[in-house]
Amino acid sequence: MTERQNNTHGDEPVVDQAIWPPVDPVRAGLGGRCPRCGEGRLFSGFLTVGRGCHNCGLDYGFADAGDGPAVFVILIIGFLVVGLALWMEVSLGPSLWVHFLIWIPLALVLCLTALRLMKGLLIALQYRNKAEQGELER
Ligand SMILES: [Zn+2]
Repeated sequence: MTERQNNTHGDEPVVDQAIWPPVDPVRAGLGGRCPRCGEGRLFSGFLTVGRGCHNCGLDYGFADAGDGPAVFVILIIGFLVVGLALWMEVSLGPSLWVHFLIWIPLALVLCLTALRLMKGLLIALQYRNKAEQGELER
């Protein structure tokens, strides 16, 4: 609580700002970069979060995006792909295999891409806004 009280602007704790200047969470998140220094890699695999930042040593143990990225991806990409498929069916009326050929690969590529971007973004925002369970310092 004392750490939060020192922080009058609602930004990152004073200790972090003294060493690591604030990083834009959107840029760091979408780029898959460390939410503290903006340089190190966030992911060790395609969607696997690494153990920590190689640049600043930030432990990624706090990172838990949960179902958040999947929810946003389902809503956004689902709206886009289903909307386009409906538009194509109504206006052009192609046969069923054309729909399969276009929309399944498109949905896969868009979902996987968006899932990585969204996961990085949510973890960066989680770090920025200190959204985590209460725990003792290690
Ligand atoms: Zn870092």
